[in-house]
Amino acid sequence: MAAPAAAETSCRLEFSVQMTCESCVEAVREALQGLPGVRVLDVRLDSQTVLVEASVAAERVQERLEARGRRAVLRGAGGPPGGGGPVAAAVAALQGPGPVRGLLRFVQVSPQRCLVEGTVDGLQPGPHGLHVHEFGDLSDACDSCGDHFNPDGECHGGPQDEHRHVGDLGNIWADATGRANFRMEDSRLKVWDIIGRSVVVDAGEDDLGRGSHPLSRVTGNSGPRLACGVVARAAGLFENPKRLCTCDGLTLWDERDRERPPGQPAPHL
Ligand code: ZN
Repeated sequence: MAAPAAAETSCRLEFSVQMTCESCVEAVREALQGLPGVRVLDVRLDSQTVLVEASVAAERVQERLEARGRRAVLRGAGGPPGGGGPVAAAVAALQGPGPVRGLLRFVQVSPQRCLVEGTVDGLQPGPHGLHVHEFGDLSDACDSCGDHFNPDGECHGGPQDEHRHVGDLGNIWADATGRANFRMEDSRLKVWDIIGRSVVVDAGEDDLGRGSHPLSRVTGNSGPRLACGVVARAAGLFENPKRLCTCDGLTLWDERDRERPPGQPAPHL
């Protein structure tokens, strides 16, 4: 079963964007106006910030902001005003003993709606089970993450099922290059419940509890754990106090380049 589309779910994203004059502000507005699913809420030259409401992945907005060589950094994410909770956003960087790497972002857009988006690379093409696990313990690689997060004592299921583990996110699909890009909305997951726990991507397909294997109602029989990462609190909107200059003399923009994963081209300046 396909992951539920979350195209209609929007969240607010705050970016720091390199802007030096009013014409930069206009160029940023123009660039974003051409991107479906994005509404510009505010562009500020004095603080070099751009606030948008987006129903597309944050990465798409960032690519558009950087398309003309202007650098952009995602500073925070959150739901609509008043729609969040004590913690509005979280991230998890997945790593494994093998080549699989990934980055997931969780945004609580309302008390009942958690947006989960991300990219995982290095997978075999096809479906892979994705779950939030009980512990953020990577001391024994992904084997110390415990079972699927299951505070209600339920059997394993699919994300659309009434009876499921809260951590059951179903499957993500890797394309022919081994990359899975996904964006889903979940009604059971709450960002504030999963901080400090972990996310694990598995080698095989999660049968969503509908298989004949004895593990079907336990784990979905989705095979060995490929990569995992601890769910960490991320900055909500306007919570990131970091300014454009850092103590070691690097600007935010230098750091942006330093954080760029190997193999990804630097923006043209
Ligand atoms: Zn489960």
